Amino acid sequence: MQTMGHIKLHIPGPVEVSAKTFAAFCSPMIGHRGQGFKDLYAKMQPQLQSLLFTKQLVYLSTSSAWGVMEGALRNLVAKKVLCCMCGAFSDKWLDVARRCGKSAEGLQVDWGSPIRAEAIDAKLATGEFDALTLIHNETSTGTMSSLNDIAALKLKYPEVIFIVDAVSSMTATRIAFDELGIDVLLAGTQKAFAMPPGLTVFTCSPSALAKAAGQKDRGYYFDFVEFQKNALENMTPSTPSISHTYALASKLEDIFAEGLQARFARHLALAQRTRAWAAGHGFLLFPEAGFESPTLTCVSNGARAGGRVIDVAKFQKLVKDRGFLIDGGYGKIKGTTFRISNMGDETEATMQTLYAAMDESIRLLG
Ligand SMILES: *Cc1c(COP(=O)(O)O)cnc(C)c1O
Repeated sequence: MQTMGHIKLHIPGPVEVSAKTFAAFCSPMIGHRGQGFKDLYAKMQPQLQSLLFTKQLVYLSTSSAWGVMEGALRNLVAKKVLCCMCGAFSDKWLDVARRCGKSAEGLQVDWGSPIRAEAIDAKLATGEFDALTLIHNETSTGTMSSLNDIAALKLKYPEVIFIVDAVSSMTATRIAFDELGIDVLLAGTQKAFAMPPGLTVFTCSPSALAKAAGQKDRGYYFDFVEFQKNALENMTPSTPSISHTYALASKLEDIFAEGLQARFARHLALAQRTRAWAAGHGFLLFPEAGFESPTLTCVSNGARAGGRVIDVAKFQKLVKDRGFLIDGGYGKIKGTTFRISNMGDETEATMQTLYAAMDESIRLLG
């Protein structure tokens, strides 16, 4: 949405929110136990199930993703959790598990590398773990791991609960929950959904729900059993952000008007365009080849040997002066990488205006 002086967001979340989504967000308030809310949620449920390729109920949590990421640990880890770590968000999950008092171990790979099924297999073979956490698309490094390969391990380890964060990939690429056989799938709405921050969409397998039901000290606000019980009545456990619920209904209309396949193809094509922009200016990409994200591009600026190196802070400022905000790199790769998002409602035309601003900024750097 354009307002005076607004810098258009091309950071990997939050991303730009459309005027239509904002208008829906500003719908008049209704009671969350009334028929109006139930009808709103009921109307969305089949769309959410199609989006996640599941027959399970899809839940709405009024929290950012971390609420449900922490909740998943509290609901589902009884013995020990394996945290697959390949970037800032996935690394943090180990810390969060320990803060929740859980026994936890990290499976750390270099930032920019994906998580590989063989490495998980070797850890799970010890029999120590009853759950694992995985980030599908590690937003800090722009690296997407192969969920198909990793989820195939469920057949070998049916007792292990697979908790998957798809915060920056859900809606942008196909993630078939039931077919994959994973146990929890979640995403906050300020990234690939292109909605305001504050809502998380998630679902659970029947075995995850059964395990949660037997779990002590799982708390209340993020109790998955409560989410299931309430979703059966088209409600949420506590008062939800009704504004976000309206915005989500509007966004789901957009998603299904475009069509899932077209939406997935659009994201991939735009990411490929951005990768080509980077290559055209002599940059290398940060992720290992073959694992680049379809929703954001993490460009190497010296983090990898070879390739062009620029003053990222200056570049970012020049791009900002031209009306676009890109990201200057996350955590320990700040400055040695930069990130460009193509999540949400971007098109070939809108991305072209960004590339033009970046081309001009590069020229001005000299
Ligand atoms: C942004 C992000 C998160 C954290 O989301 P919050 O909204 O800050 O809770 C978690 N995982 C991934 C992959 C992300 O991109």
